[in-house]
Amino acid sequence: MEHWSQYKDELIATAKALVTPGKGILAGDESTGTIGKRFASIQVENNEENRRSYRELLFTAPNFGHYISGVITFEETLYHKTSQGKPFVDVMKEAGVIPGIKVDKGVTPIPGTKDETSTQGLDSLLSRCQKYYETGARFAKWRAVIKISIADGCPSDVAIKENAWGLARYAAICQQAGLVPIVETRKFLWMEITLLKTLTSDREVLYEVYYALDQQHVLLEGTLLKPNMVLPGTDCKDKASPKKIAECTVRTLQRTVPAAVPGIVFLSGGQSEEEASVNLNAMNQVEMVKPWKLSFSYGRALQSSCLKAWQGKAENVRAAQEAFLARAKANGEATLGKYAGGTGNNESLFVKDYKY
Ligand code: 13P
Repeated sequence: MEHWSQYKDELIATAKALVTPGKGILAGDESTGTIGKRFASIQVENNEENRRSYRELLFTAPNFGHYISGVITFEETLYHKTSQGKPFVDVMKEAGVIPGIKVDKGVTPIPGTKDETSTQGLDSLLSRCQKYYETGARFAKWRAVIKISIADGCPSDVAIKENAWGLARYAAICQQAGLVPIVETRKFLWMEITLLKTLTSDREVLYEVYYALDQQHVLLEGTLLKPNMVLPGTDCKDKASPKKIAECTVRTLQRTVPAAVPGIVFLSGGQSEEEASVNLNAMNQVEMVKPWKLSFSYGRALQSSCLKAWQGKAENVRAAQEAFLARAKANGEATLGKYAGGTGNNESLFVKDYKY
């Protein structure tokens, strides 16, 4: 018996459903602090009712299940209800969308490193996951943040090993409770980093992550990977075309991610809405061996225009939902390599010196 035996078929089915062609994941799991920063940009107060109404707007957007397979929520949101009293979890299920939950508790510095971090939240993780499963969640997310800097010699071996091992511990515990673990490896790029440096670091990190997942008997068929695309830093002089980004990203994944993994759902990581859609589209067009589905798990690139359209006002809900649906549709098309381009905002969503 493996720790996941009881849930094997369900884990495999959930992971597959999350990467249904034409659909991807809405990362709506901004912590209370992070959503506060998003609200501040539109002068909306960060209180529980505003957080609830904003998420209601997203989850009641007409037919959003046509393009969105699952939603990652922050714990508070998993238990929220619509203004009519219907639990969000039921709203999602009725829309054919799978509820998910962020289970990590943020990052903490690793002593002796140059501001590298490990992720917290393993204590009591099993009982939390069991509770989330009972509430209706069927998948989870845990973010490891990897700093990439030539000047500081990052990522260090210690940070790579620590984060890979933590991701594997998290993934094994989730599967024990019936939740599909999304394994998030988020690179935090120093601005001048070249495409080549990102590519090399990504390969080192992913190699170690899959070694750790194997060591801890994680059922790969019941997992998804959430990496960033292989991109140059925002201040790097050598810009890369979507085709080049697609080739470098797919090649890195070919060399590190086993074919048993059903899907790779990229984070948007500060790309503009348009870039995130165009680059995903390029990956699905490029003629290379791709044994996994390539899809999205975007936060900012799905919500930025939506937030701006909303401005915290009830009369703007419809317009905000349309903005959200437009990005969901574009990215859904990009999972099929059919996004024609030109519908997204080009404004960069990169935040300099962001502290995770
Ligand atoms: P992005 O905004 O980088 O797409 O992040 C996705 C995410 O995981 C949000 O919590």
